Amino acid sequence: MSIKKILIANRGEISLRIMRTAKEMSIKTIAVYSEADRLSPHVQYADEAVCLGPAPSAQSYLLADKLIEVAKNLKADSIHPGYGFLSENASFARKVREAGLVFIGPSAESMETMGDKLAARTAVAQYDVPVVPGTKEAITDLAIAKATARKIGYPVLIKASAGGGGKGMRIVETEEDLEAQMSRAVSEAESAFGDSRVFLEKYFTAPRHIEIQILGDQHGNLVHLFERECSIQRRHQKVIEEAFSSVLTEEKRKAMGDTALKVAKACNYYSAGTVEFIVDENLDFYFLEINTRLQVEHPVTEMITGKDLVREQILIAEGKPLGFVQEDLHIHGHSIEVRVYAENPKNGFLPDTGRLLTYKRPQGPGVRVDDGFEEGMDIPIYYDPLIGKLIVYDQTRAAAIERMIRAIEEFQITGVENTLGFCKFAMKHPAFRNGNFHTGFIDKHFEPEKLEDDFSQVENDLLAALSVMIHERKNNQPSTPNPFKEPTNSTKWKKNRLK
Ligand code: ADP
Repeated sequence: MSIKKILIANRGEISLRIMRTAKEMSIKTIAVYSEADRLSPHVQYADEAVCLGPAPSAQSYLLADKLIEVAKNLKADSIHPGYGFLSENASFARKVREAGLVFIGPSAESMETMGDKLAARTAVAQYDVPVVPGTKEAITDLAIAKATARKIGYPVLIKASAGGGGKGMRIVETEEDLEAQMSRAVSEAESAFGDSRVFLEKYFTAPRHIEIQILGDQHGNLVHLFERECSIQRRHQKVIEEAFSSVLTEEKRKAMGDTALKVAKACNYYSAGTVEFIVDENLDFYFLEINTRLQVEHPVTEMITGKDLVREQILIAEGKPLGFVQEDLHIHGHSIEVRVYAENPKNGFLPDTGRLLTYKRPQGPGVRVDDGFEEGMDIPIYYDPLIGKLIVYDQTRAAAIERMIRAIEEFQITGVENTLGFCKFAMKHPAFRNGNFHTGFIDKHFEPEKLEDDFSQVENDLLAALSVMIHERKNNQPSTPNPFKEPTNSTKWKKNRLK
């Protein structure tokens, strides 16, 4: 079959990202949005746009049945879930297919097996895949937990089997803490994921997070597109990623790639997916999990391989065989992505909200910005605080780092605290530059007081006040709560919308 119209069940930068490829493939798109996002660029970019409901995700982006209904009503033939929201929800994927639509992603069965960390560990067991040492089943009994932890050796990590997004993890340093931490972990897992199962894993104190991008078609062909180094994290979540990893040898790269393909085979995987590994000081690697969707950091892989991963996802969903084999894929140059979050690095990376008073993107050779906002827009409190992603490409890692510093300096954001300053700090830090870092980079090296402040808070506040005054003078009237106004008479806004 050939896909002609996709409903994108997402928002912001990833929604736009998918639409751009769709456009290049002459495929029509339907945007969905919540009331908080009605002015978002993704709504304007799509051929049609539908409001799902109020801002909270549970009343908008997570309404599985409504999304399917909208897709059917507007005669879409497929749904792309993006990342987050319903993207890893097997029952949504199943419902989409039962409704006669194409789900642009893997099978519901693969998602079911791999969506659960314990089930994933079991699934790969007979495929000779090294997993992080730990329990095979959910831990309910304290005596068993103690015995296992002793065997693994402290510190250990308690993880929620249904966990995700860096949530549901507790580090236990000594046996005395195990009981209290376990009961906390169980109740947290129950309240956050509706599933109280937790298990124990060896806790690596200075690991790297390195992941392999895979692609598989519906005919059993599988390839990997090399690795992404994602060790610069806060709260167990990535902030800076790069492709390739400067520590992997060709031999190690191949071993990890081959192992990733075994993981994919273990769940009959097709579409784009990411096999995540923890890598220790000796470069021994252990399977963590497989993310059954497009990853936030997918652009760095696109830059070094020349493949458009969204395009590949669409072709695979259409039932087409992969147009290349492993030997056709090569690494060209180096790519780095920094995530621009509305967060305050000087205050433990706490999310910030507010209005993008200034928002000027960097330009020039080797610079790509995937974002979902325009100057004057508010960053809503309801969703992940990602403003956008800044991606650079150059021939070597050293050149890519210099290009990233240049691009960060060009990027002008005022009105909202953001992670750009931290990312520049990282780019300039010797540990990052020589590739000698691990997931504890922020704890070990980050000194917030050393952030090069382009604007102090006072200057920021002054700028904000100034911008309001200028606005008032220009319009000869008090500024409206939101200067980013809906273009009411534009034909763009007369698009097909359901309430
Ligand atoms: P999630 O599904 O919540 O993203 P992951 O299992 O992918 O959880 O782990 C997220 C991050 O947490 C990893 O990138 C790593 O930094 C850290 N982490 C996970 N497991 C371990 C471990 N066993 N030892 C040390 N760090 C870990």
